[in-house]
Amino acid sequence: MDSSTGFAQFKEFFYKDYREETDMSLMPFKNEAFTDFTDEKNKAAFEEALAKVKSEFGKHWDLLIDGERIKTENVIKSIDPADPDTVVGTVGKATKEIADKAVNSAYDVFENYWRWTEPEFRARILLKAAHLLRQRKHIFSATMVYEESKNWAEADGDTCEAIDFLEFYAREMMRLGGAQTLVPYPGEENNMYYIPLGPIVVIPPWNFPMAIMAGMTTAALVTGNTVVLKPASGAPVVAAKFIDLLLEAGMPPEVINFCPGSGGEVGDTLVGHPKTRLIAFTGSMEVGLHIQELSAKTQPGQIWVKRTILEMGGKDALLIDATADPEYAAEQAVLGAFGFQGQKCSACSRLIIEAPIYDEVVAKVVEIAKNLTVGHPSDNPNLGAVIDSSAFKMIKDYIQIGQDDGGKLLLGGGTKEGGYFVEPTVIGDVKEDHRIALEEIFGPVLACIKADDFEHGIKIFNSTQFGLTGGLISNDRERLERAREELHCGNLYLNRKITGALVGVQPFGGFNMSGTDSKAGGQDYLMLFMQAKTVTERW
Ligand code: NAP
Ligand code: MG
Repeated sequence: MDSSTGFAQFKEFFYKDYREETDMSLMPFKNEAFTDFTDEKNKAAFEEALAKVKSEFGKHWDLLIDGERIKTENVIKSIDPADPDTVVGTVGKATKEIADKAVNSAYDVFENYWRWTEPEFRARILLKAAHLLRQRKHIFSATMVYEESKNWAEADGDTCEAIDFLEFYAREMMRLGGAQTLVPYPGEENNMYYIPLGPIVVIPPWNFPMAIMAGMTTAALVTGNTVVLKPASGAPVVAAKFIDLLLEAGMPPEVINFCPGSGGEVGDTLVGHPKTRLIAFTGSMEVGLHIQELSAKTQPGQIWVKRTILEMGGKDALLIDATADPEYAAEQAVLGAFGFQGQKCSACSRLIIEAPIYDEVVAKVVEIAKNLTVGHPSDNPNLGAVIDSSAFKMIKDYIQIGQDDGGKLLLGGGTKEGGYFVEPTVIGDVKEDHRIALEEIFGPVLACIKADDFEHGIKIFNSTQFGLTGGLISNDRERLERAREELHCGNLYLNRKITGALVGVQPFGGFNMSGTDSKAGGQDYLMLFMQAKTVTERW
């Protein structure tokens, strides 16, 4: 955008088109209902969406920089992990020069246009996008079936969460958009407003390629910031489709730069750029800490202290005490451990069981997990493939390390032909200092650890550098109360599985090396994307 364009040109546009037409009164936020696939109608609709997505395999998306579609020399190929010969689609691949241009454009557009727009105007675009996404829900979910190997319910959950973020953040912006309540002072008018920050670099992971990507991107946009989105290289197609949808919903193309590229190559350019104001990142601890370090270094010409939102890995545990019902506990453990092949930051990867019921719970876990099916997710098995060849290799290595350290393979451990399939794997006799009890694996591998007593269980629970999700299953009131205080993690679940946080219901974010605890889907979240300005006028 030409930096001389300025605010005036747009003023008429957003007042006319948006302000007068839309009714400000909104239904209260409600989580999007998950699709019931036992209903034949829904099943047929989903199969139709799968066929439609398949028929469009190989489609290409160009970058979107400064409001223009840009062709690149190189492309990123997005592969079906359950059938790696299949190319789901391709997207352009940015160079360092393009990444630099994207941030410069985001800065100009921020200064000359987007920061001056009305919060309600921006919120309404999110509401419209939520409406469109709801209509095309199965297309987005079916894309994730092929691109990330999610089974139907996992893919549907991801799309529903994205809809929730749009609806929730739109309402949140309307709440935070006006002057905030202050203590009155005689002879003066005092106001405090939340205003936007500047260009925001959004770097999501591949594992919730709709929810987290859309959540971070729209939180940044609705608060009046411009965005450079660098999607994860394993999940660019679903992100490209979402950008198309945002534009259709009325998001001005200049405010959202779609800038796929290798994290290693363009990441440092985006993060280190003097005009980048905030980096909203979700991904591994290693990359998060690298971003933290690089963004802390002031660059020539930089006029602000960069902010970071860094949500990172986990080594999440479910503690089961001797008063728990072993059957129920085992069911909840299996749900948390193997959903989406264990590739959730919230996945249960440590099962800590009090000695008296250790054998019984472990036997039940094996019995339940034994029946889980593995296959191409278009056939809706319990587990699809893991994301790529390096994840496949790393998970296999960890299964070996677990045994080399003294763990006993109780279930799985093998792989399956045709794609990056790893069987649901249970390893028993794991000790709290074994590597598979401490390091994030990000695959379908559950480490079972025996605790001498409840006290010891708490100690093991808190013995990693992470602190994302966790839980306790118990029938003892006193222990449940202690768990609330002493189990140190951002999202603690008592007497249920430890995955599946809902927007608005369980704001999500982790402690310690799991991140900055930004609590996505909570009432504090949007404030991280803004700064407060206090204005006083004396009469
Ligand atoms: P990742 O390898 O850290 O990648 C995350 C993003 O960072 C990708 O877009 C990646 O790009 C980019 N990146 C890589 N190197 C970079 C650099 N030097 N500078 C800037 N960006 C860079 O994580 P992932 O494998 O996608 O996701 C799995 C991890 O995410 C797990 O650790 C999981 O626990 C965590 N996670 C956390 C949460 C949470 O809420 N705490 C939620 C979901 C996932 P490329 O794809 O091009 O490499
Ligand atoms: Mg990775």
